[in-house]
Amino acid sequence: MIDFSCAVLVAVLDLFFPIAVQWFIDTLLPEGNWGKIVQVNILLLLVYLLSTFMNFVVNYLGHKLGINIETDMRRDLFDHIQKQSFKFFDNTKTGHIMSRITNDLFDIGEFAHHGPEDFFIAMMTFIGAFVIMFQINPPLALIALVFMPFLIWLVTYCNTKMNNAWKEMYSKIADVNARVEDSISGIRVVKAFTNEEFEMDRFRKQNGFFQSAKLYAYKVMAGTHSSIYFMTRLLTLVILVVGAWLSYNGKLSYGELVSFVLYTNVLIKPVDKISALLELYPKGMAGFKRFREMLRQEPEIKDRENAIAVPHLEGNISFKDVSFRYDETKPVLNNVSFDIKAGQTIAFVGSSGAGKTTICSLIPRFYDVDEGSITIDGIDIRDMTQKSLRQQIGIVQQDVFLFTGTIRENIEYGRLGASFEEIQAAAEKAHLKDFIESLPDGYDTQIGERGLKLSGGQKQRLAIARMFLKNPPILILDEATSALDTETEMMIQNSLNELSKNRTTLVIAHRLATIRNADRIFVVTDNGIEEEGTYEELLALNGVFAKLHKAQFQKAEEMAYLK
Ligand code: ADP
Ligand code: MG
Repeated sequence: MIDFSCAVLVAVLDLFFPIAVQWFIDTLLPEGNWGKIVQVNILLLLVYLLSTFMNFVVNYLGHKLGINIETDMRRDLFDHIQKQSFKFFDNTKTGHIMSRITNDLFDIGEFAHHGPEDFFIAMMTFIGAFVIMFQINPPLALIALVFMPFLIWLVTYCNTKMNNAWKEMYSKIADVNARVEDSISGIRVVKAFTNEEFEMDRFRKQNGFFQSAKLYAYKVMAGTHSSIYFMTRLLTLVILVVGAWLSYNGKLSYGELVSFVLYTNVLIKPVDKISALLELYPKGMAGFKRFREMLRQEPEIKDRENAIAVPHLEGNISFKDVSFRYDETKPVLNNVSFDIKAGQTIAFVGSSGAGKTTICSLIPRFYDVDEGSITIDGIDIRDMTQKSLRQQIGIVQQDVFLFTGTIRENIEYGRLGASFEEIQAAAEKAHLKDFIESLPDGYDTQIGERGLKLSGGQKQRLAIARMFLKNPPILILDEATSALDTETEMMIQNSLNELSKNRTTLVIAHRLATIRNADRIFVVTDNGIEEEGTYEELLALNGVFAKLHKAQFQKAEEMAYLK
């Protein structure tokens, strides 16, 4: 409200200035009273100071409002995205989410602070200037009025053109960024294939597109400024010529002529502003609509109204006739049923793409089953709150994601708020203690982007330390060690065995040697769970598992031979 009143005052002062000049020339100058002239000038200085201060307030407070709106919306959007289910992330490009969070909201914020009140004030100044001009001299005002449609058309035309040019420029810079991101994150591949030249060429091309787009945008901008400049000067010139003729014939005083010329300049500002608003409005509205759309998108998986927060699960897991597909193409699981007793270690084996990871993603309810049901300790997982369910399940995968931050923070991610002693104990159990303590900064060593690079084995150990800290009754190891060499794998295996003690553990393993001691093994194929039993039982069955085993055994022998 304060900024609105200030804006009105600024507009009024803008309108008042030419009248003051007119009075100065027509009344004050002929009187020749220097004392009065100085007084008036001091008064004008004060008015200017006031107007400058109010301009500051308008710009600052107006932007403050816009920035607050933008910040709140960005926060809401981020919160909302955090709550989305996996399907959302499967189907939404990261780039899109980023543009929602940055560009769209910027447009909305921009409109929010240049919005309705600016429009009102611009209209007021525009109309006010014309009313006063008609008071001074109607024919001259009419000439100015005739000019207006051309000026408005020109400004709008240029603004639209400029808007498109900027949009193009933004999309080109996004492409450039994408190229940088792609080729830097894939730098190992680039170098391994010695494709640096190719990458440079690709980048150069993209950068060139950006250059042309930005150059074009500036060309349009320069054209806009100069043509508007010309139009306004032309108007001033016409006013000057006609005004001079009127003044020569005694129909216009010198002061009136000067103030008229000044008013033509006052007119330009609101025209420019209104046209900018007119084009900002659809942009802001489009962004706002997309924002609303995204907020309206409910997470796929939601807690039922009477969902219970399960305090502690034993870990008896049952799949009953579970069918599931990611999309309409083909079902991944078809009528899969099995029972796992609490505390057992169960291994899933099978060719890649058979659906092992999918089975494990259904247990923490990352996706909901299409048919059938999954129960833990006899309770349907859809009757539990997602939070309590997921707190009881730990997942260690092949790729360990480490956040930018310290080792300590990354272990603590397993259970936020854990004490330093607990973190140290977890690191010790994961056989990571000696390594961490050998680092100069110890637990406060930065890792990731700009810090220490960990080896694959060390990353896995960190993931295991996280899990010790989380201490869930159900543990899923999805090819946790598949990316490691055999030696490291064997070393990590000991930690994993320790970790899986007293927990229901589901192991997806690539190398069959690592699951020798599993209580039971499920062989997953396109037909669901095709075989199950202990290692020896399955070998004796001489079916799919035996074949897999034979293939790996042969391969191992060949490898040994090659050595
Ligand atoms: P496994 O872990 O046994 O190698 P997955 O469970 O990862 O197999 O995948 C089973 C099938 O589901 C594959 O055909 C795979 O392409 C498909 N699939 C896996 N994840 C997704 C996903 N997020 N969206 C669509 N299809 C998927
Ligand atoms: Mg998998």
